[in-house]
Amino acid sequence: MEQEFLRAPSPRPATASRPVPQAPQGRQSPQRKQGDRFGTGGRGLPGLLWNRGAGRRERELSEKYGLTIGPASKNGGHFSHSELNKLDKVLGGLPRNDLEYDAHSLEGIVRGGGDMGPASLYDGETRKVHVQHPWGMPGWLYTKLQKGSGWQRRLMDLGAALNYQGLSMGQKCSVMGCSHNRRQVMGGALAHGSLFSWTMRHEIGHSVDERCQWKMVEARKPEFGGWLLHEGQLGHYQVACAFLAPYGITDDEVRIWLADRIAPDPEGNPPALSDALIGEFTRDWPDATEQMGHEALRQLLADLKFATAQPWMLPDGGADRLTRDGRVYQVSHYGEWCSYLASAREHVVSPYQFSCAEEWFAEAYAAYHDPVAGHAPRRRLHPDAAAWFEKKARKESQG
Ligand SMILES: [Zn+2]
Repeated sequence: MEQEFLRAPSPRPATASRPVPQAPQGRQSPQRKQGDRFGTGGRGLPGLLWNRGAGRRERELSEKYGLTIGPASKNGGHFSHSELNKLDKVLGGLPRNDLEYDAHSLEGIVRGGGDMGPASLYDGETRKVHVQHPWGMPGWLYTKLQKGSGWQRRLMDLGAALNYQGLSMGQKCSVMGCSHNRRQVMGGALAHGSLFSWTMRHEIGHSVDERCQWKMVEARKPEFGGWLLHEGQLGHYQVACAFLAPYGITDDEVRIWLADRIAPDPEGNPPALSDALIGEFTRDWPDATEQMGHEALRQLLADLKFATAQPWMLPDGGADRLTRDGRVYQVSHYGEWCSYLASAREHVVSPYQFSCAEEWFAEAYAAYHDPVAGHAPRRRLHPDAAAWFEKKARKESQG
């Protein structure tokens, strides 16, 4: 859902200042009422029914946080008051440096836009978080969605699952089921709290990853999951080696043959691994077929196919079938082969965290900065990963 994240950030002079809309002078915003039940920021019924005063509050928050907060385009819609309330709390709880450290920091949080369908995302080119309302629901209702509610989470998961490749309709709809083995996107033991607030921290996390180049510099370290991206011919060859090794197949020609067939297509779609591959393999590599046996060959193809069908949505991330020499191999929703350390699942925050390295960081960031009492999500992280977040915040605040 964050395809844009993969793009290189657009160059900008280090001295460029962020265009911050100024709050009009001479008028004070209405007093915030204690116990503002409907989250209208003190605007009462007009605020609730007609979103009155939202534009002014957006300008106030823009100034407060040094970000562009408001409609994505001139004629776009405003955030609801309840969204602005939550946004204020989320931004106020994050290290200030994550929002305005330098010219590569987050630029804004905007309502709509982004050319990306129904999901919110961080656009690496404009460095803005684009906020979309799930299922087209109004903003006030979005802020009521709770990750801790089973039925709400199932609906959220369905919305996400419908967009994934490699899954049958039955597999997509299995997120609505009750089986202990059902697929999930944002479930897990730590699912709690406001979906809106978690999503904001998650998307801001993408901008932090990009700015500090976490994926480039840190992602391979064990405390961060030990992520590897297996791209290009060499990457696919590594995957072929890993999957053939348990059967004792070390012939380089066989490995290269398989590497060619598991490569994603030029559009980035997962490889189409049809059953015809078994016949091809048997014909081209009779000795290897004899060594493996037909049943093992069928299993090999089934496991590779399984790796292309978003296995991270399963309770164990598909690790029981996809772990080879301590690493879990899969095709990410970007259509790329990647792998991570199986041992890293001890510190899983959510299923989505293990969909690819970028999402691992964004979910870890959302968990580390979760304001829940006792910091349960933060404690779930590897102690070295939590220490890294802490050190980073401290170092930057010192200058
Ligand atoms: Zn993301």
